[in-house]
Amino acid sequence: MTKSVDAPEVLEEIGLRGVELLTNPLYNKGTAFTAEERDELGLWGLLPPHVDNIDGQIDRAYQAFEMEPSDLEKYIFLRNLQDHNEVLFYRLLMEHIPEMMPIIYTPVVGEACQKFSHIFRQRRGIFVSYPDRRRIPEILDNVPRSKVQVIVVTDGERILGLGDQGTDGMGIPIGKLSLYSLCGGIDPATTLPIILDVGTDNEERLEDPLYIGWRNRRIRDERYDQFVEEFVENVIAKFPGILLQWEDFANRNARRLLERYRDRLCTFNDDIQGTAAVAVAAIMSALKVSSVQEIDQNYVIFGAGSAGIGIAELLETSLIHQGLSQVQAREKIWLVDRYGLLHKATPDLQAVQSPYARDLASLNFGDGGDIGLLEVVRGARAGVLIGCSGQGNAFRREVVEAMAANCERPIIFPLSNPNACCEGEPAQILAWSGGRALVATGSPFGPVSLDSGISTIEIGQCNNCYVFPGVGLGVIASGARRVTDAMFMKAAIALSELSPALSRPGASLLPALSDIRAVSAKIAFSVGMEAVRAGLADPSIDSEEALQARLEKTMWYPRYKRFKYRSG
Ligand code: NAD
Repeated sequence: MTKSVDAPEVLEEIGLRGVELLTNPLYNKGTAFTAEERDELGLWGLLPPHVDNIDGQIDRAYQAFEMEPSDLEKYIFLRNLQDHNEVLFYRLLMEHIPEMMPIIYTPVVGEACQKFSHIFRQRRGIFVSYPDRRRIPEILDNVPRSKVQVIVVTDGERILGLGDQGTDGMGIPIGKLSLYSLCGGIDPATTLPIILDVGTDNEERLEDPLYIGWRNRRIRDERYDQFVEEFVENVIAKFPGILLQWEDFANRNARRLLERYRDRLCTFNDDIQGTAAVAVAAIMSALKVSSVQEIDQNYVIFGAGSAGIGIAELLETSLIHQGLSQVQAREKIWLVDRYGLLHKATPDLQAVQSPYARDLASLNFGDGGDIGLLEVVRGARAGVLIGCSGQGNAFRREVVEAMAANCERPIIFPLSNPNACCEGEPAQILAWSGGRALVATGSPFGPVSLDSGISTIEIGQCNNCYVFPGVGLGVIASGARRVTDAMFMKAAIALSELSPALSRPGASLLPALSDIRAVSAKIAFSVGMEAVRAGLADPSIDSEEALQARLEKTMWYPRYKRFKYRSG
């Protein structure tokens, strides 16, 4: 294991001593409190006599992590560590990002949410429950943080691909905020996970005697909107300048809430905008690898929900930047949902889908009825195929072969999570395309061997953690007043430039997770400069150097401080 070297210690005066200090995860250092600190802070006898440094603690914690028999128990172990000693938690994660990220976030966080009420140990974040709606100001006053910079909020209705988990969805804001600190260097002391508990329609939860949420069916009518409104109003009043991320809301609410609030505070929806930025970045990188211009390609998106529409919109923006008109850009983007190609008469067509709905009469393929994926891939002469439908193995052999017949390097991204919902196995996509496809996935997949093991293709993971922590860091450091679509476009461009596949054949389209902090810093810079350009940044940031200095100051690194007691 690589040993870490701590920077010179920073001295901080704190008003905590004894057990109160040891039970505060932001300050607790456990066995790393020195003899001098044990004197000063009343810790003698409360800790074993040996004084550790953080490297010894990391070794011990990693051994304990390895001894946990299942992924869920590893998750419980890490969450427990987070609730006791945040610096050690993040340092351990930083040394084992590829191994531990799938534990604290997808896919294991999904299982943790499904069992959240059963593995519940200790509170973290805040619970805003519908029956307590008149107490929202009091609830926010109870937040044990003096300064809050980022909130991630969910109502638990569409947790990953797992549907309604009610209050058990709290695992998601906790996990996302851990990634903000791990990947983007946001000080965990300034982050706040929130669950809006508006009930659940999950029968299993409603009948579970251990369920920790409000045992009631979901509030869905105007009472829901009123509740969210009261919540947002109070958040703005209590934490002016806050960055609020909406997470895992059902499709019907995700877009509405984003549109309603995006001009009232600094806010975004990661399922829509973050996903789009990562996917478009990977598309841009793949197009560069295949030496095809963005405007010369045709794009099929399979699954026209939150993620699919978000990707379509950002792609459209990108194509317009490349010189196409809006009409021309939309003509290149083909959306396929459960009834086949979206068209003007598709049943229940949503307002956000309609810009991409085709006029069937104007097509030179199809027979006027529903047009399936294979026919669209052929008819549109698609070179890029993105899956966000949740339909496992929907990219059948004929579909992949049709993509391979359309162009030299078909770009095929089955993005749906978890693995059972993934539209195609990378190994099969590569085999069916004669090894020519450029593949990235939503869930992690190992490398694929080609030509009897002569070459190896790394499969990049379109993980949203490549973008949202950097966007958050850029917004906070630049003091941006709003989060704009242009910031996500800049984030996508910055990420695409860091693709290892641009310099090494067979390499992943996305950077290594172990480089994530450097990736976030680069994205944050691009986002911050966009805030400056748009006149949304703190006016004191008047140059690239000023932004860079602010970024470096904002980026938190997990290291112990030296504590002195402050009485009174
Ligand atoms: P969503 O529910 O908003 O959208 C899913 C869409 O798929 C809906 O429009 C639905 O009608 C459509 N669909 C259902 N059955 C279909 C079928 N048989 N054929 C075609 N379309 C069908 O969900 P979402 O938030 O857009 O997420 C979709 C999937 O994408 C999930 O599995 C999610 O895990 C994944 N996702 C991946 C990433 C990533 O890789 N970074 C990010 C976000 C979402």
